[in-house]
Amino acid sequence: MRTREMSRLMKLTANLTSVQRAVLLMHLRVRDERSRALAIVEQRTAAVPGCPRCAATQVVRNGQAHGLQRYKCRSCCVTFNASTGTPLARLRYRERWLAQCAALREGLSVRKAAAELEVHRSTAFRWRHRFLRCPAKVKDLAMRGIVEADETYVLESFKGQRRALAEAGRPSRHRGGKARKRGLSREQIPILVLRTRTGQTADFVLPAAPDKAAVQAVLACAAGQTGCGLRRSPLSPTNPGPCSQAGSLQLAPIAGSVMTALPFTL
Ligand SMILES: [Zn+2]
Repeated sequence: MRTREMSRLMKLTANLTSVQRAVLLMHLRVRDERSRALAIVEQRTAAVPGCPRCAATQVVRNGQAHGLQRYKCRSCCVTFNASTGTPLARLRYRERWLAQCAALREGLSVRKAAAELEVHRSTAFRWRHRFLRCPAKVKDLAMRGIVEADETYVLESFKGQRRALAEAGRPSRHRGGKARKRGLSREQIPILVLRTRTGQTADFVLPAAPDKAAVQAVLACAAGQTGCGLRRSPLSPTNPGPCSQAGSLQLAPIAGSVMTALPFTL
């Protein structure tokens, strides 16, 4: 907006009634939330956007669409934006995406999340699964500097996977439930969470009995040196995305963690 138009708009706000001011503030808040969500989505293509169809890196900017920068592939002529090919593609109500991330972090039920976000329960259910698929789509991180590591365990879940549950040969648990055995067992999935001092976070599903080699493979992968072949766990919906260069990591285990027994650097 030009400066003259902006000053005219500012003058007009002086004539607003209190109700109109409240409506305008609400409108601006929605716009702000939408911009923040889209800025995070655009971070993933900030370095070199690759074509989602042919993976060519020769792409050009091609205007804006729905608040996102649109790109055009010079090889296959397809147009795309930062959300193309991701679980967030074509999702609406973008101003509520950050609130959805917060609902996931807080572990709200679908019903509570729907009430919080003012969307239908079916929308809240669909969003939950779309957002949980996001970290798996994030490319390997290239963390640098000191990384703190800790392990956590979550109960293995076959929610929505009847065939897999039948193959596991156990009855379904209801509302989380408890493990059948006390302590650590095959029902508990080990997850390694890494965080750098600058706030980059990554998490990986470790093998059932993690050893030094498995942890070393994860660290090498996090440093951008190699693919460790391990599954990225669906715990970090706000993963900040990859760095462009491979770095080196220095492990700083958290007190009380099993990682303390495995001190080494890469
Ligand atoms: Zn292409």
